[in-house]
Amino acid sequence: MKTTVSSPLSTTTETTASNWWVSTYIAISRGRNLTAFCIFGYVIELERIYGILTSFLGESKQGRYDSSTTQYQFNCPYCAEEKGYVDNKYNCEVSLEIMKFHCWSDNIAGSLSKIIKRYGGRSLLKEYFELVNELRSNKLYEFVEESQKTVDKEPIKLPKTYKRIKYGTCRDKKLLRYLKKRNIDQWTIDKFKIGYTSWDGEDKSWACRLIIPSYDEFGRLNYFVGRDFLPQKPDSDFKRIKYKNCDADKKEIVFQEELIDTDADIILVEGALDCIYGPNTISMLGKSLSQDSALFKFLVERANARVILCLDNDTTEEESLKICRIFNPTRLAGRIWYILMDEYKDFGEAFEKDGVKGIVKVLRTAKKYDIDSDI
Ligand SMILES: [Zn+2]
Repeated sequence: MKTTVSSPLSTTTETTASNWWVSTYIAISRGRNLTAFCIFGYVIELERIYGILTSFLGESKQGRYDSSTTQYQFNCPYCAEEKGYVDNKYNCEVSLEIMKFHCWSDNIAGSLSKIIKRYGGRSLLKEYFELVNELRSNKLYEFVEESQKTVDKEPIKLPKTYKRIKYGTCRDKKLLRYLKKRNIDQWTIDKFKIGYTSWDGEDKSWACRLIIPSYDEFGRLNYFVGRDFLPQKPDSDFKRIKYKNCDADKKEIVFQEELIDTDADIILVEGALDCIYGPNTISMLGKSLSQDSALFKFLVERANARVILCLDNDTTEEESLKICRIFNPTRLAGRIWYILMDEYKDFGEAFEKDGVKGIVKVLRTAKKYDIDSDI
């Protein structure tokens, strides 16, 4: 027996009523790229993932798992949270083909792991990842999920002497002086889990650094940067690099992804310290942004409001425009803005000098990137 079901996310899904199903999914992204994925999978894993979903979302509108389809509608937990009751409208569409959900009512969307993490809890999330890994390790199933990329790798570890900063108990005068100069208060330290390393017992290249860690959307450490907080002695032979990055590949992560609200404007800055001053700000960990980076993909797939590029003041307008242009063939076209720093060197300096007012002043100078006049 053969059945054909259509899904809004793919062309057609053809399945046979055996333990196997095979489908070809063709995604056409804005006229330019024609990407073809071949998806193979075992029904049994999909059924277990379905089971995970029903355990906290309740039964789907379809009433049961059915191997002839990969599309299901559930009552939306975000809507229920907002309204205070379950509306029984089954607006939350789930695709087991690409492991994503989308609520037609409030427009909240994302990977299944996002909804499982929030409403199902950690043990279900772990079970979900295990199933996904099983499917992937058999090379029978492939889909795009950014955060999955880091799952199989060696976990990143913070430097040996890393300690969270507490103003009340910290005795390191050089560190305290540095924090004061940078206008970093306890609230910021706690929000960004900022810590520091001491001199003793540390690999010297990591010693005496302010540590700015980055966690992915599941709260796993995926990167960290260390800023030297020792005062610079101009006549000394002993030169230390100001910013030291950990060994992980920065192209594969979204810095401080855990803290990013994809429904609000997102600001892109260069430095790891600049992003602690602005609202909803991501550090690019440099001046460049390439189309094969995790950050670019994250923005294109998930940013629902504006993206505002704010590079340091040694950047030319053309350099900023170059980055704006890479979004032209994506769903973010028309939502890219940019700021040319003038009065301040960067976000960090705007805040150091004028606090929140400085940041607001900078944000007011944002210009919309106009595709039509930029040819
Ligand atoms: Zn909803």
